[in-house]
Amino acid sequence: MEQTFAIIKPDAVERNLIGKILEKIETEGFRVASIKRALLTVLIAEGFYHVHKERPFFKDLTKSMCAGPVVLLVLEKEGAIKAWRKLMGATNPAEADEGTIRKEFAVNLEKNSVHGSDAPETAAFEISYFFSQTEIIS
Ligand code: GDP
Repeated sequence: MEQTFAIIKPDAVERNLIGKILEKIETEGFRVASIKRALLTVLIAEGFYHVHKERPFFKDLTKSMCAGPVVLLVLEKEGAIKAWRKLMGATNPAEADEGTIRKEFAVNLEKNSVHGSDAPETAAFEISYFFSQTEIIS
């Protein structure tokens, strides 16, 4: 069973959307293998998004991830990485397909409600960045 990493971002937590997003996740057949709420610091957000450090939006992105609590998730499903990217929708909600989380809940490109790993190596790094082995119950 493949694992992927997801974040319910501060904009969605602030609008009380945790339940609605988890409902979509479970309805699509994902199992929640681990879940926790956290308040990221800038240093933690910068380490997490290190691949984007040369991008012009890096500072805005890391700041927005620290604007309030997040929910961190390890999700399991056959083909979980691709399936979660599909359920999230396009990065820019204006381009997201009907039925996706970003289409339904995102505010704009920055406040786009959810994060998801984009490849197996990224998923492995991101899961281990926030969770220890003993916190993940397959
Ligand atoms: P994702 O994998 O779909 O989340 O997209 P990326 O990995 O390309 O970008 C990471 C995150 O950076 C996105 O989810 C957005 O929140 C944010 N982001 C991407 N492009 C921009 C941009 O041009 N401006 C701002 N402010 N944020 C951006």
